Amino acid sequence: MITDGAIARMITDERQRYAAANPRSAALAQAAARHWHRGVPFHWMLDWGTPFPLFVEHAQGAELWDVDGHRYDDFCLGDTGSMFGHSPAPVAQAIARQASRGLTTMLPGEDAVAVADALAARFGLPFWQVTSSASEANRAVIRWCRGITGRSKILVFNGCYHGAVDDVFVDLRDGVPELRKSLVGQVYDVREHTVVVEFNDLPALEAALAGGDIACVLTEPALTNVGMVLPDPGYLQAMRDLCTRHGTLLVFDETHTISSGFGGHTMTHGTLPDLFVLGKPVAGGVPCAVFGFTAEVAQRMERARAEGETGHSGIGTTLSANALALAAMRACLTQVMTPQAYAHMLPLAAELADALRAVIARNGLAWHVTHIGARGEFICGDTAPRNGTQARAAMQGPLEHALHLYLINRGVLIAPFHNMTLISPATTRAQVDRLAQVLDDCLKTLIGNA
Ligand code: PMP
Repeated sequence: MITDGAIARMITDERQRYAAANPRSAALAQAAARHWHRGVPFHWMLDWGTPFPLFVEHAQGAELWDVDGHRYDDFCLGDTGSMFGHSPAPVAQAIARQASRGLTTMLPGEDAVAVADALAARFGLPFWQVTSSASEANRAVIRWCRGITGRSKILVFNGCYHGAVDDVFVDLRDGVPELRKSLVGQVYDVREHTVVVEFNDLPALEAALAGGDIACVLTEPALTNVGMVLPDPGYLQAMRDLCTRHGTLLVFDETHTISSGFGGHTMTHGTLPDLFVLGKPVAGGVPCAVFGFTAEVAQRMERARAEGETGHSGIGTTLSANALALAAMRACLTQVMTPQAYAHMLPLAAELADALRAVIARNGLAWHVTHIGARGEFICGDTAPRNGTQARAAMQGPLEHALHLYLINRGVLIAPFHNMTLISPATTRAQVDRLAQVLDDCLKTLIGNA
């Protein structure tokens, strides 16, 4: 039994411990606050629940060192561009080589051919384009889907996240679509053109598609941004069939689920989308993303383009497909995101899931561990959420805050937003054992303090 009092005590103790252990980070945080709004160059850096941000000295593989000399086992890779480890050697070398050979030219080079061939072979889609981020790729894909179908609406799932894409910031609260409160400054009611239903609810999907006015369904094959929600057996294929029947394009955003296996969830589990988005890890952390599509979609894009005005389309930016990103992507696809890498990641992730289950059981808790491919998550509740509403209900703010602080203070980082972990090609068995041990110590402390 974990009481509110024990949680509150742990938060107080661990915040003090953190402040005492990190004087150099504290000093840098003070100095940074002089000119960075809210003290950091990017506001997500405040999401860790620590009294002040941890300042990084360097990161390598699945390890990170802070400016006070502490070393961390980094399991917080799954929300980042470092899913395949920090600064993988082939990517670092490719960047170094390209650095003095032209960073951005608005012309293709030899890397462009190698990258396109690698993408087509791996993901089974013949045509590709590059953007600078997954957010941008999703925005481009939504535009194309609306453009080629002539339909204005898109459909997303409750609890989804696809980056800085205003159109998808709609949640279901008690079954009613609501604008996400964090959508500051957006003056259009995006609900006019965005339909939201629960994941794993086929009748709701079918009813929404039946109107014939939905351009595309945009989803992760497994939701990973509202906690983790896995598709029911057969659900994605049924989604695929419904989309085909109703003339709706199916888009898989595999920016996170690329960790499901070689070729992403798509090639590992076999349901094929019309369009496919892959962002942050594809160039090893260099800003870059790609979207791929079928030959049929490509033809329809050509028709839509021919009918339209020439000139600025609002799709793509000057830095898209720059030479540095292409060099990094080539190295990452061909030398880092390899079948051998997955052969290390997947079994070790299964071991971590088992180890976490054992820790939870040993402490007499009825918590659940969800796991797919290299990604895992423990939920401080006893059932696996099947949709966004259930996933939100399973979140335990203060308890998770306490756990995260305890782990950080003992050299373990997991995703700050929820309890998600990722095994990279560089993650070791010893790191998995340490995470399990520290979580065990943490739970014993919480339970012992009842
Ligand atoms: N799609 C998914 C599924 C994501 O999880 C994210 C980021 N967490 C994005 C898109 C956006 O990626 P970026 O912030 O790199 O644009």
